[in-house]
Amino acid sequence: MIIVKKDEEIELMKKSCYIAAVALFKAGEAIKPGVTTQHINKIAEAYITSKGAIPSFLNYGGFPASVCISINNEVVHGIPSSNRVLQEGDIVSVDVGAFLNGFHSDNAATFAVGRISKDLEHLLDVTQNSLMLGIKAAVVGARVGAISHAVQTCVESEGLYVVKDYVGHGVGRNLHEGPEVPNFGNPEHGARLVSGMTLAIEPMVNIGTEEVQTQSNGTVVTKDGSYSAHFEHTIALTEDGPQILTLC
Ligand code: MG
Repeated sequence: MIIVKKDEEIELMKKSCYIAAVALFKAGEAIKPGVTTQHINKIAEAYITSKGAIPSFLNYGGFPASVCISINNEVVHGIPSSNRVLQEGDIVSVDVGAFLNGFHSDNAATFAVGRISKDLEHLLDVTQNSLMLGIKAAVVGARVGAISHAVQTCVESEGLYVVKDYVGHGVGRNLHEGPEVPNFGNPEHGARLVSGMTLAIEPMVNIGTEEVQTQSNGTVVTKDGSYSAHFEHTIALTEDGPQILTLC
């Protein structure tokens, strides 16, 4: 179900979104060779709880940690571990949500660990750019498909692949609300975008294939082992255009 928010509800969401954005920033600052993914998880968790918020992903669908941390060929839902040590040349995706005042927030970014290859720089640049183009397309009166189409066009024009099995979503009192926001599709399809909608737009982009599979622990990986990136913002639709809420 699509739940349109009142202005005062969006003001409340801005607070949880700010916390998630700062937590993601702090996680990113801590990323370097030799650090474990559990260390990164704890940094984000400590910040979120210090602000009186709750990590949105903790216990969500049984997820055992506060943030999702996915390395290299892992697409999403990676579980932080004290046994996973970041290596020079890795890429690491961190997905952070925070719940405060009755509202969730959701944002993600993929970070380089030390120096990375040109191909991986390209992957990160294109994925982030596709997110920004998707956001730009989120204008009142257009359809959800306009976002999807903008993301897909950007990614495929660069010779990369969008993941189709996982999609963006509405976000608010629930972490996942309608509408689904696929990263592929026809600009004339999907729900009409109206002021007050709050969406998590989140392209997941692979180098070698769109196909993914899920490991027994729930981590989603690329089928061919190629690397994957993920960038996400929570935005609010307004008559003046899309507003990114997960900024710090
Ligand atoms: Mg999300």
